[in-house]
Amino acid sequence: MSQAACPLPTSRSSLLERLAQPQTYDLAVIGGGATGLGVALDAAARGFKVVLVESHDFAKGTSSRATKLVHGGVRYLAQGNIALVREALHERTTLLHNAPHLAQPLAFVMPSYKLLDTPFYGIGLKMYDALAGKAGLGATEFLSRARTVECLPTVREQGLKGGVKYWDGQFDDARLALALARTAAQKGALLLNYCPARELIYEDGRVAGLFCEDAETGARYEVRAQCVVNATGPWVDVFREQDARAQGRPARPMVAPSQGVHVVVDREFLPSKHALLVPKTADGRVLFAVPWLGKLILGTTDTPRHDLAREPLPFPEELDFILTEAGRYLSRQPTLADVRSMWVGLRPLVKPQDDDGENTKKISREHTVMSSRTGLVTVTGGKWTTYRAMAEDVLAECFSIGRLPRRQAGVTVHLPLVGAGGGVARGLDQAQGLHSYGTEAGCVAELPGGERWLSESLSEAMVRFAARHEYARTVEDVLARRSRLLFLDARLAAELAPRVAEILEQELGHDARLAEFQALAVQYLPLQV
Ligand SMILES: Cc1cc2nc3c(=O)[nH]c(=O)nc-3n(C[C@H](O)[C@H](O)[C@H](O)COP(=O)(O)OP(=O)(O)OC[C@H]3O[C@@H](n4cnc5c(N)ncnc54)[C@H](O)[C@@H]3O)c2cc1C
Repeated sequence: MSQAACPLPTSRSSLLERLAQPQTYDLAVIGGGATGLGVALDAAARGFKVVLVESHDFAKGTSSRATKLVHGGVRYLAQGNIALVREALHERTTLLHNAPHLAQPLAFVMPSYKLLDTPFYGIGLKMYDALAGKAGLGATEFLSRARTVECLPTVREQGLKGGVKYWDGQFDDARLALALARTAAQKGALLLNYCPARELIYEDGRVAGLFCEDAETGARYEVRAQCVVNATGPWVDVFREQDARAQGRPARPMVAPSQGVHVVVDREFLPSKHALLVPKTADGRVLFAVPWLGKLILGTTDTPRHDLAREPLPFPEELDFILTEAGRYLSRQPTLADVRSMWVGLRPLVKPQDDDGENTKKISREHTVMSSRTGLVTVTGGKWTTYRAMAEDVLAECFSIGRLPRRQAGVTVHLPLVGAGGGVARGLDQAQGLHSYGTEAGCVAELPGGERWLSESLSEAMVRFAARHEYARTVEDVLARRSRLLFLDARLAAELAPRVAEILEQELGHDARLAEFQALAVQYLPLQV
């Protein structure tokens, strides 16, 4: 493995010292998910002075709860949205190049049980290949029944006619978010987790910055900025409401949340490097079974919710839907007792806005960028795969409203993220390990505890690295997002938590919130087990 430059330390006291210095930033970003981090990186790479504050941990919201696909969106193709698919395919390639240790190609197989399904879906996927052009990852193939079974050894064989194999990508969402944060920091941005923005600052009716708070101590900071971007995902209405009040008009919420559940089971349910795609389940949704970090992810659902819970729970019928549908395509149906972990992400579905004075651009690729009369720029929706293009749209909006001087786009197209450069050592279908750190693997291994493995995928040194270089503050930060154990095997994560807490407390000299993590891990398992 090739060696990286020494990674930047993420000592919180130094970060807070920087935050306390009186200065005016070019850009302040609220929200450290894929969208906010992408904006911070793009702006920092264009030479702007950037600060980003995240209320919880980076990617604690939707951005650690994706299906983990880097994809053009086959279903948009079915809707005839060619431009959207072409752009996402282009972004897919960019991401695979810029973070090969965290995002890789993945072959999908669609089994068909009706004779006409193979040509119907196959022709659509050939179009997908054509749209990808040079960005294609491999040609779509029509599979015989025998080849389908070879690719998906545990597929239900009764009535199987054949299948179609096509290529997309997969990634580690939370670690990619960290890589964005750390790359932005390398470019000079200041990023803080556990630092909620509490209030926007107005001057002469214009947004001029924000007040934020160190969630660990309660200390309050004033952050001045030429431009403020509200990238709080499903929570964007909080600041939009404050902004509407500042203009003396009633607030009109734009987000209608809908939740997506994923369930994780052992790989024995589908011992393959291929993912399985069911294009149309009993109720018309898409279902994936994706090999990921040594386990198998099944999902997802799309169920409206009326709250914006930080840790939403699945509805029992959603679990039932996923397990039953998976059972219709696999030789053995997984049951609740087989569930190793489950998690829920919130989609911020955007309601159409009309005449309340906001400049709304409902962009075809499903995200929305808007700016208010006060100059607050809000972005929400979209998908992980297109975070980079979304960041360009957000900066274009900051330029068009005159909040930032225009600077050339495209600087992140060929910008490798932290850890990139060593090629692909092992596939993302394999358990995490030193290879997950790309070129930083050597730096991790050299830390104390490099030889002491807490589990197959987590060493003591990785916990120390998380504390020293990856902004980790709590057991949850380590076990949910630096390591992905909470998402893969919640029971094992709970078992390892006390040791992780000891190491973190040595490193950080503060309470690593073990009890909170133990309570959370219970929520990642179904009650019935
Ligand atoms: C179930 C599901 C599956 C998906 N699967 C895929 C997939 O396979 N591939 C794909 O490309 N896309 C996928 N997506 C879409 C993708 O996950 C999202 O587009 C992306 O994560 C959105 O990122 P975000 O930064 O906008 O929102 P978030 O990740 O939710 O980030 C918003 C952040 O703002 C923070 N915040 C809130 N209030 C404050 C405050 N006051 N101060 C500071 N910070 C604050 C939150 O803590 C949060 O971290 C999926 C989405 C869902 C719901």
